[in-house]
Amino acid sequence: MTCSPAQPVAPVSASVSVDTRAEPDRAALEALLPRYDTAGPRYTSYPTAPTWREEPDAQTYRASLAALPGSGPYAIYVHVPFCRSLCHFCACNRVITRKAEPPAHYLKHLAREIKEVRRALPDRARAGQIHLGGGTPTHLTPPQLEALMGELTRSFPATEDAEISIEIDPRVTTAAHMDVLLAWGFNRLSLGIQDFDPLVQAAIHRRQSVDQVARLVERVRAGEPCGINFDLIYGLPHQNEESFSRTLEHVISLRPDRIALYGYAHVTWVARHQRGFERLDLPSAKARLGLQLLAIERLTESGYVAIGMDHFALPDDELARAAKERRLHRNFMGYTIRTCSESLAFGPSGISEFSSGFVQSQRDLHDWETGIKAAGLAPFRAHRSSEDDKRRAWVISQIMCHGAVSGEAYRSLYGESFRDRFASELTRLKRLEDDGLLALEPDGSFEMSASGRLFLRNAAMAFDAYLPGQKDRDCGMFSRTV
Ligand code: SF4
Repeated sequence: MTCSPAQPVAPVSASVSVDTRAEPDRAALEALLPRYDTAGPRYTSYPTAPTWREEPDAQTYRASLAALPGSGPYAIYVHVPFCRSLCHFCACNRVITRKAEPPAHYLKHLAREIKEVRRALPDRARAGQIHLGGGTPTHLTPPQLEALMGELTRSFPATEDAEISIEIDPRVTTAAHMDVLLAWGFNRLSLGIQDFDPLVQAAIHRRQSVDQVARLVERVRAGEPCGINFDLIYGLPHQNEESFSRTLEHVISLRPDRIALYGYAHVTWVARHQRGFERLDLPSAKARLGLQLLAIERLTESGYVAIGMDHFALPDDELARAAKERRLHRNFMGYTIRTCSESLAFGPSGISEFSSGFVQSQRDLHDWETGIKAAGLAPFRAHRSSEDDKRRAWVISQIMCHGAVSGEAYRSLYGESFRDRFASELTRLKRLEDDGLLALEPDGSFEMSASGRLFLRNAAMAFDAYLPGQKDRDCGMFSRTV
């Protein structure tokens, strides 16, 4: 989780000839699938976590924290790994428990980790963004949620304009949870919806009705202004355009401010339980593309603006305005307009991102707890970014946020020619240009077309210097790009 540093983004040259507004042509896109539907990273970081090789101890992690510049504001992520039942599509880091509440020692260890990180930092620390994710953060009881927010904000007081957000599972979120969230100033709630179709819900083992979600939305809208996000997934078993169309109608009628439309990631080497889907009616690559195009069509004709990769927002939402003005950033928590300098993560598997690199905590709950008990911090792996990494990370973030890279902006940041630095990468993009997915300029600037915006990951992969060395890529380190 991190907010990218604020960086100047000059507009791509006015002479770029690609049409970014034209409707994607379904038949032409289907013809491109064999070439572009490949395994590839989602680029929530660059380099991606599987390439991180350092194995820091608590002392090294403390030293990285002590070396951070200034007092933030920081982007803060807390991972709450507990869930009451397993959703069969899930590849998150989670612990399924029948107990009604997480064990008290989890919160005790979290409190210790928060204090240790705060103590290691050089200066007064404020939070410009706080996000509780999981797992299921509302698996915490309302008093546990309050205790966690008290602990966090004592160490990291929120700035006045901080975004305070949480992932909500409508099945386990009560009125008492909502009272706590609204009292603590949460101003963005992300509801996991996935699909409203009963057959799909039965296959994915996640049943929740439209009414259940509508009641929650109503409760939120009755209080202080609070943004509502919905998460949807396409590519699930039994989904078809007719059934997904009904889901989209329900979603549109509830009018969330933002929608994240994720492609289902079939990653059985990470989530073995997903193998069960192979006996069910899992949509083909062509059917997945159809579902994605249907959603884009329905959402945009209902007034939503497409943003970056797989996100939509109402036109007056700050994210849509930022996308239009090219002020968008992306971190492990998603797209954001906050310009936090560094990010700090707490809980098992949390990733802290600094301008110098990344540190990830132990992923297994038991290992994380053991590390915290022993040394206050439980780092598992890390990466120190080279100057080359930083340049490539900037280029990839421009692609994922804006579908475009400006040679002029690159030069003003790094004092060198974008075209000369990335000559071989730009040659690789020629194939995408020939397929109508982007337009290249003489100085190396490029912009993806409307169709090309479905292939942002493929364009980003051209700039990934680690991919050729990741031999196992095609046999399954990453999910499919389309
Ligand atoms: S509630 Fe979320 S984290 Fe938990 S199993 Fe379901 S999808 Fe995964």
